[in-house]
Formats: sequence, structure tokens, C-alpha cells
Amino acid sequence: MLTEEASQGGEEPPDPARLSALKAFQSAGRKFWANVTDADWNDWRWQLKHRITRLEQLERLMPTLTPEERAGAVLADTKLAMAITPYFFNLIDPSDENCPIRRQVIPRLEETDTAPWEMTDPCGEDSHSPVPGLVHRYPDRVLFLVTDRCAAYCRYCTRSRLVSNATGYDFHPEFDRQIDYIARHPEVRDVLLSGGDPLLFSDEKLEYLLSRLRAIPHVEFLRIGSRIPIFLPQRITPELCAMLRQFHPLFVSIHSNHPRELTTEVRAALERLADAGIPLGNQSVLLRHVNDDVTVMRAHVQKLLMCRVRPYYIYQCDLIAGSAHLRASVRRGLQIMEGLRGHTTGYAVPTYVIDAPGGGGKVPVSPEYVLSRNKDRVVIRNFEGRIFEYPEATDGTPLFKGVPPLNESDFV
Ligand SMILES: *Cc1c(COP(=O)(O)O)cnc(C)c1O
Ligand code: SF4
Repeated sequence: MLTEEASQGGEEPPDPARLSALKAFQSAGRKFWANVTDADWNDWRWQLKHRITRLEQLERLMPTLTPEERAGAVLADTKLAMAITPYFFNLIDPSDENCPIRRQVIPRLEETDTAPWEMTDPCGEDSHSPVPGLVHRYPDRVLFLVTDRCAAYCRYCTRSRLVSNATGYDFHPEFDRQIDYIARHPEVRDVLLSGGDPLLFSDEKLEYLLSRLRAIPHVEFLRIGSRIPIFLPQRITPELCAMLRQFHPLFVSIHSNHPRELTTEVRAALERLADAGIPLGNQSVLLRHVNDDVTVMRAHVQKLLMCRVRPYYIYQCDLIAGSAHLRASVRRGLQIMEGLRGHTTGYAVPTYVIDAPGGGGKVPVSPEYVLSRNKDRVVIRNFEGRIFEYPEATDGTPLFKGVPPLNESDFV
């Protein structure tokens, strides 16, 4: 029997016109800042200094602000600060109340609605921190939080308890203690720098941190999680890329949710990173009325490949307090996965995960392709819903003399 997702995903009517509009690469433009010089506009520090952080600025730039947004902007400073770079603000369509860009960065009154199952630390990070700012949940890798600042703030941020310091969390990472922990734990072979956004640091500060991590012999692999290529592509300077390339193997995971975020400016920034030999992945969060739609997601993952970025994860939105209006259902997420696998390039298909509430880590969730399985056969279905049988192989016969046979228990 086919799952509900299978039948719905398969029946999604292809709409080539909509797909090609979503896939077009366009510049973000400069509609509100036409008089700013190119030198200023392309200077990432200018962009940061001129972020939209106050209700008055929002109202001036966007007379179509709704009462819910106005109330949200007033309350934002007590929850998660509002900040939007001028560059990214240009992607908002002021005439569309449901603009997918707008919903991600403009606060709304609904953020004050909280349900009993929502949390300030939905992934239980604080309880898995051996030293402040270091989350050691998995056996061989750590999450290294370097700052509480971002170029802009996402209204569904899973780390809004500390990011932007609006709730007074007062996050002060102590690099010496964090690095010392890693140095004393030889099992840590992978360090993921995140925050906040590590690429907000100056080149010098980031270089200092990366050199200290590279000096630890058992640290094999470094990666940086950053939304800066999307919020502030001006930050991806040739100098930054030249500095980063000294630390290979170094991967960068970007965070893009909608094809409109992939502008010509972003594509150029991602090319600079890729040309520095940095493998790029993308993490998306599944968000209601933003990207909870097969056509949008398909355009997004295909466009990511054109930017030399491999879609890595789609996250089910964490149970962050006040995020109900942005959370899409797992049912929807499964339909989207169903509409990707087989329908487009395998490289474009990310893994859909739920970060288990309370701190269980990322758990993959997938449409059901194995319909039944016993010791003789596996019954599977393909992306079109056709059913196939695969006669199970026996693991009991050793291939080579002296190699012990595999047992059922080897697989659990
Ligand atoms: C997501 C995450 C990682 C990295 O997980 P990968 O599946 O290896 O990308 C590491 N530590 C923590 C705490 C995380 O949340
Ligand atoms: S960029 Fe990342 S850390 Fe910063 S607000 Fe957005 S989701 Fe949170």
C-alpha cells in the first residue's frame, strides 16, 4: 500500500512556467538606496551599520506594514532583536503580505503566542555543553558557538535564547576554555563553528580562531555554518576567501530557504568561496508560506546546484517559543521529499531531519520506500509508486577464507 505522501507527492502537477520564474537569477537591486555609492553599498561594514533595526525605519521603507508586523517590531527587542541588512531588505515585496522573504525577518505579533510544548532551548543545547558555548552531543564532533551576533535575525531562530542578546542571556564565549576542551578530547575530529554567525568576525579574528583549531592534531575537519552569504554577500571578499583556504579541509554550510534568496550577488559570493576550494552545503528550515511547497523547494535545490552548493539538510522547524505561525507540518515535509527524490538530480536532494526535542540530535525522516522486508525478500517502491521485489542476499557465506560471517547483530 502506498503512503499518503507517496500518492500526493507523485500527483503534484509540474508547472514549468512557475518553476522557471522561481529559478531566474536576479539582482536584489537598490530600490530604497538608489543614492548610495557603489563603494558604500558593496562595503559589508556599511551594510551592517545601516541595518533596519527600528520600527520607524520599517514604517518609512514599507508603508504597507500590517498591524501584526507593527506590533511584532515593537516587541522584538524583548525576544529576538530585529535586524535586516539593506541588501536583503530589497528582496522583500512590500505589496505581498505573504512575501516569503518578509515572513523570515519581519517580526509578527504571533511571536508572543506560545504553546506548552514550545521551548527556549528546543534542542537541549545548554544541557549538552561541557563548557559554555560548546555543544558536544555526538561522539566525534562538536558545535562551537563563537558569537551571539548575526547579520540579520531569522524569526524562527533555534538559538534565539542567546542570539542578539534580546533576552539578556549574555553569551560570552571563552575561546580558551572551548579550545582547551577540544584539545583534551582526542575523539573530537570535527569542529563546527556557528553561533550567531562566525563570518561576522574580522578576517584577523577568524584566522586566529581557525589557526588555533588547526594546531590541534586530532582535529581533522573544520566547518563554518553561516547565513552571511545570503544576508550579506558583500562580506565574502577575495581576502576572506584567501584566508579561509589555508585551513582545508574546510567546508561551509550556508542557510538559504527560498529561491529568491539566490540572487546574482549571492551566486557571485558563493562562486568566490567555491573557487577557494571550499565545498558548500545548504541547510534550509521548512517554513510555512515560505518554502512548504514542492515547486518552490524543487526550484530552490536546483538553483543551489547552479551556485555550486549541495543541498545538505532540510530541518523540520524546531519547537522554538512563538514559532507556530512559521512551522509547517512533518506531513508537508514528507510530501516535499517525495516530490524531490527521483524527480530531480540526486545531488539536489537533501536529508530531511527533525532535531529531536529536548536534545536527541538530528533524526532523519523519510517517505517509506521499503514496503516490507523479511529474510527472503525486500519489497520496495520507486518514486512513481511502482512496486519491486529484491530477493534478499545471504550474509552467512564468507567471501574470503578467514573472514568471519556477518551476523544479524552486526546490523543493529
Ligand atoms: C547539527 C549538529 C552537528 C553537526 O551534525 P552533522 O549531522 O554532522 O552535520 C554537531 N553538533 C550539534 C550539536 C549539532 O546540532
Ligand atoms: S542566521 Fe542562524 S543563528 Fe542567526 S538568527 Fe538566523 S537562524 Fe539564528
